[in-house]
Amino acid sequence: MKILVLNCGSSSLKYQLFDMDNEEVLAKGLCERIAIDGSILKHSPTGKEKFELKTPMKDHNDAIAAVVDALLDKTHGVISDISEVNAVGHRVVHGGEAFTKSVIIDGAVKKAISECAQIAPLHNPPNLMGIEACERLMKNTPQTAVFDTAFHQTMPPKAYLYAIPYELYDKHKVRKYGFHGTSHKYVSERAAAVLGKPLESLKIITCHLGNGASVCAVDGGKSVDTSMGFTPLEGLVMGTRSGDIDPAVVSFIMEKEGKTAKEVENMLNKQSGVLGVSGVSSDFRDIEDAERGGNNRAKLALEGFYYRVAKYAGAYAAAMNGADAFVFTAGLGENSASARAAICGYLGFLGLKIDADKNSVRGREIDFAAADSKARALVIPTNEELVIARDTKALV
Ligand code: ADP
Repeated sequence: MKILVLNCGSSSLKYQLFDMDNEEVLAKGLCERIAIDGSILKHSPTGKEKFELKTPMKDHNDAIAAVVDALLDKTHGVISDISEVNAVGHRVVHGGEAFTKSVIIDGAVKKAISECAQIAPLHNPPNLMGIEACERLMKNTPQTAVFDTAFHQTMPPKAYLYAIPYELYDKHKVRKYGFHGTSHKYVSERAAAVLGKPLESLKIITCHLGNGASVCAVDGGKSVDTSMGFTPLEGLVMGTRSGDIDPAVVSFIMEKEGKTAKEVENMLNKQSGVLGVSGVSSDFRDIEDAERGGNNRAKLALEGFYYRVAKYAGAYAAAMNGADAFVFTAGLGENSASARAAICGYLGFLGLKIDADKNSVRGREIDFAAADSKARALVIPTNEELVIARDTKALV
């Protein structure tokens, strides 16, 4: 069975075609600058030469048509007929309270995704455009939606309700939803497998540390709390996002700087985080380099980032009355030994001790806790596309 996984953003589209008989990736790639001048497709077929195509893509329909052409192409294609694709799995960012797991897409599902666009205006509309483009281009192929929010629907009200007038929850569904659910679910399951223990018996704190970053408390395989909130802005310090701040800062900046609410929200999403503090970059590699070169603001940005992750990890150990394992994943979590060491350095009070040699690994599964550590610490590379392909296979 072949499954195409699509992740449609506002101006980009990432794809992977899986052969699910052996979970092999046949091809992957991305379209960039959709609906902008200079649209480009970058296609990487496994075992064949990479290929780039500059072609106008006025919308997601054009982008998906370009992807289909690339998959079918005589030289760099990997299938000979589009009917070989048995199903398409879509990453959908916001499923609100409507979806607790992945689903086959039908009219009612599309309507619900469209309703959630009110609370995810940047993410759900392009997700929906991708779904509708596939409906046009691959008429009889079943499609599924795999939601970033679904895994966190097990959070109890005490974790997801904000302490604001309850009517706002009733009327507008203002509450914590959490994101990166597919990743937190996958790495917590892999961690249990690496530790050789039943997931149901474990209290795991998963740290997804990439450009966007979140921590999740996974108790017995269920999300009981997570750091992102109503939107992906809450929680950790991120590449360009502030994470938690005093909400009163918003109106203060609006008054002092003569900005609108939207402008301040934009600033908190795009000009803040480690970029805002360091003034160097949103990319952790650049900031680590600048810190090594003696840049004090880069040092402040990194220290603030590590400290916030550690505070959440400590809070979630309290939420679960203990923590058996801490899992690090995504760009920074998988690759930066110094970030992992700095964060774990705060968690000695929970019995965590790391093995510096084992912590020097990059991008592969390992338990890097010291032999006499009471809690375990693991690197688990995430694979959200594979989870989407597996869920899609199970559904169709
Ligand atoms: P996203 O999917 O949210 O865009 P990723 O999970 O790809 O993010 O993570 C991107 C981040 O990971 C970047 O800030 C990048 O600097 C960081 N990163 C990747 N490799 C390394 C590395 N070797 N050392 C430090 N940071 C790294």
